[in-house]
This record gives sequence, C-alpha cells and structure tokens, in this order.
Amino acid sequence: MRRVNRLSDTPTEIPDELYDMCGQARRVVVLTGAGMSAESGVPTFRDPIDGLWENFEPEQLVSVEGWRTDPGTVWAWHLWFAALISKCSPNPGHRALGRWARTWQRREAGTVEVITQNIDDLHERAGLIPISHLHGSITTFLCSQCGAKAQSVLSYPKEPSAHIMPPRCPVCGGYIRPAVTWFGEELPRKDIDAAVEAAMGCDLMLVVGTSGTVHPAAGLPRLAAGRGVPIIEINPRDTALTHDMDIVWRESAAVALPALVDGVLGDHE
Ligand code: NAD
Ligand code: ZN
Repeated sequence: MRRVNRLSDTPTEIPDELYDMCGQARRVVVLTGAGMSAESGVPTFRDPIDGLWENFEPEQLVSVEGWRTDPGTVWAWHLWFAALISKCSPNPGHRALGRWARTWQRREAGTVEVITQNIDDLHERAGLIPISHLHGSITTFLCSQCGAKAQSVLSYPKEPSAHIMPPRCPVCGGYIRPAVTWFGEELPRKDIDAAVEAAMGCDLMLVVGTSGTVHPAAGLPRLAAGRGVPIIEINPRDTALTHDMDIVWRESAAVALPALVDGVLGDHE
C-alpha cells in the first residue's frame, strides 16, 4: 500500500501512480459516503449533531425500530435533515466528478460512475446521476403501507421540532416516509445489483469519504480488489477499509477531487 499523507503547509501532493491508473482506466467507479458532502455543510454521522438531536444515536433515527416505536421523532429528524440538505450546495468535489464524467463521455475516453451511500442529492445537482443510491434518497417520499409515491409532502416547519407526526397517505391512510433505507431494512434490489455489477466491471475504484462500517456498501471495494482492480481511498482519516487499499490519499474530497480531475483531464472543461 502506498500512503500519501496530507502536509498542511505544502501544496496538495497527488500520488503519481494515481494519474497513471486514471490514464489507463476506461471504467472508473467512485464509491461515496457522508464525507463526500461534509464540505457542503452536511454533517456526517460522526460529526456533532444539532442540539435538538444530541440525545439520540443516529442509528436510532434511521432505523425501522425507531420508526415503529416513535414515528414522530424519526419524521421530524428527516424533515430537519432534508431542510438542511436543501440549503447546501454541491462542493468542488461533487462538481469535479461531474466534470470528469461529462468530459470523458464527450471525448469517448471512458466512463465515470458513482455509487453513493448518501441520501442527499448533491451529486445530481452537480450534474452526475449516481448509478446506485444504495441507501435511497431523502428528497423523495412514499407511503410506508401501500408504497404509493407521495407528491411534495414536504413543507418544512419554520422552526425545527423534535416531534412531528408524519402526514397520511391519501390512498390508504398509512404514514408517509422518506424513500431512504433504514437500518433493519433490505437495500433496494436495483441499486445493490447496479453497485455489484459496477464493482465487478470497473478497472479502477475510488472510495471517497466513507468509514467503511456500513454493509453491504463496505464490501464493494473488496469485490473490486479481489479482481485485481486498484482501489484508492480519499479520506482525511483512516477507515475500516484503509488496509485493503492500494493508495491512501489523506485529503478531503473537496480538495483532492478537483486536483485529481484537473490533472487527469489536462485542462478545464
Ligand atoms: P460515516 O459518517 O460513517 O463516515 C464519514 C467518513 O467521511 C469518515 O471516514 C470521515 O473520516 C470521512 N470524512 C469526513 N470529512 C471528510 C471530507 N471532507 N472528505 C472526505 N472524507 C471525509 O459515513 P458513511 O460511511 O457514509 O456511513 C454513514 C451512513 O450515514 C451512510 O449510510 C449514509 O447513508 C448516511 N449519511 C448520509 C449523509 C448524506 O447523505 N450526506 C450524511 C450523514 C450520514
Ligand atoms: Zn398508502
């Protein structure tokens, strides 16, 4: 494993091998986690959480068990998180990935695909639709009982509140919920299938801003590595996946990705 540590008082050093790997690759897959959106202002689950929620473990707020026992608290948290995301913008890392994908497509040089664990829509807003949203999306809603799609149920309360009962489905009366995958639920089949296919078909995988602790997403890099595909971690800190990596680049997403993409493309779009 080649490790590149960030040196805060020197310009960002891009691992040379990484340029070579990107130059040779034709199908790049980028697995993103909460750290991808951290510099947009979306907190990761390890960041200190808003005071309203400081007595709750994130795992309680995004679990089937939490929803079953206390839907008002779980709904209020999702409203708060969705409102926060709606005020955030894609950061230079999201935009760099979008630029890379579009430029390679135009030059017929290869493909850049994103598998995300994030429930935000910041990749989309940077012009790159992930091939897989493994944990769903907090910007769409459906009935928890009959599955009917719910149209714009979101009216954010002026003040965040720790308890708001979810609206009812006009079809069956069930509670409306966000289309995210909670702990204790199966991942959407089409998203897991697309993610596994990409891990089995890529020739380079970048792993950006994920702690590697949530499965099955955390198993995808190993799937690629098992085929001899180089895997690269971009993360300011060590993770559960660090040991498996070919290159570890200790840098933040919003700094590393634009530098890398500028270098790979050789110019600006
Ligand atoms: P995590 O919270 O477990 O870990 C975040 C990782 O990001 C850590 O390894 C951390 O070192 C790294 N990180 C922090 N700042 C970074 C930066 N600026 N650049 C690069 N990396 C940075 O996140 P996870 O592994 O994605 O798993 C948590 C679960 O929580 C996921 O399932 C996800 O769906 C959900 N979640 C989503 C969002 C979102 O949609 N933005 C936010 C929080 C949590
Ligand atoms: Zn319904």
